[in-house]
Amino acid sequence: MKIGMTTSLPIEVIYASNNIPIDLNNILVSGDADKSVAYAEKKGFPRNICAWIKGLYSVALDSGIDELVGVVEGDCSNTHSLMSVLKSEGLRVSSFSFPYNRNREDLKAEIETFARHYQVAWEEVLKTKSALDRIRQKLIRLDELTYLENKVSGFENHLWLVSSSDFNGDYRNYERELDSFLEEAQSRKARNDSLRIAFLGVPPIITDIYQTFEDLGGRVVFNEVQRQFSMPYLERDIVDQYLRYTYPYDVEFRIQDILIELKKRRIDAVISYTQSFCHRQIDNILLKKYIDLPILVLEGDRPGVLDERTKLRIESFLEMLEG
Ligand code: SF4
Repeated sequence: MKIGMTTSLPIEVIYASNNIPIDLNNILVSGDADKSVAYAEKKGFPRNICAWIKGLYSVALDSGIDELVGVVEGDCSNTHSLMSVLKSEGLRVSSFSFPYNRNREDLKAEIETFARHYQVAWEEVLKTKSALDRIRQKLIRLDELTYLENKVSGFENHLWLVSSSDFNGDYRNYERELDSFLEEAQSRKARNDSLRIAFLGVPPIITDIYQTFEDLGGRVVFNEVQRQFSMPYLERDIVDQYLRYTYPYDVEFRIQDILIELKKRRIDAVISYTQSFCHRQIDNILLKKYIDLPILVLEGDRPGVLDERTKLRIESFLEMLEG
């Protein structure tokens, strides 16, 4: 079966049950995202609801999935209503929760319930985790090629890490493609960009953000949430792995990881990206409070390229930093 997901979750369970995980966010941005959002609006989704949710609605109906797993705790409260609408249209839905309190027992129970739902033994889940961890180790190397050796662009880093949420539905093929990318990237000459940028927040729905930075002399060397999707801590235990995953929990926990990485990657400035109508915009209050670097807050709404006003803001920000 093809199992759609509204965000990252323990894909080890889905792969171990011989099903195919499909992160609908990745499908949305690789297709005509604007058309998907417009279709949802035509079906009654309000204008002032985040474009990701509207896009996911259309993609869930369009992508031939057999079942949708919605993450109903630790991601987005809009997912509840999205699932109800999709269920009423005949799609089979189930749910997964990351407990807000990061309680180990609660999370373990949740992953076990998830495994029971797909009738897969715990040993099989752990065996699959080992196979996925081998790829995650290679993604750490890709990340080093980005921030240590300066051979991988911010956009390439984003693409590989963001697609590790489901390994494009075929982790063996993903690993083969990653191997050949790493071989090619290692032989590149190091880049010589002047400004090192951190990109915090949800992956952008805007297509040319990374290119715009590079055209203006900056380069993203830290993709915060995309790196989280790649589960970079390589914890031996699957429960610990999803306990260290910062995205579903509170912003203070996210900030602890961010501060370590900003220092390690010698970051000059930070972009905090949020989506219009998203509750995560409130997190900017604490990000600005605890991060002692210049921060530019960007907001994306519809899919597509950057508008001229935002481009100008980025340009002025980078000019100010260079000055
Ligand atoms: S960007 Fe925010 S509002 Fe949109 S789906 Fe993600 S969490 Fe929900």
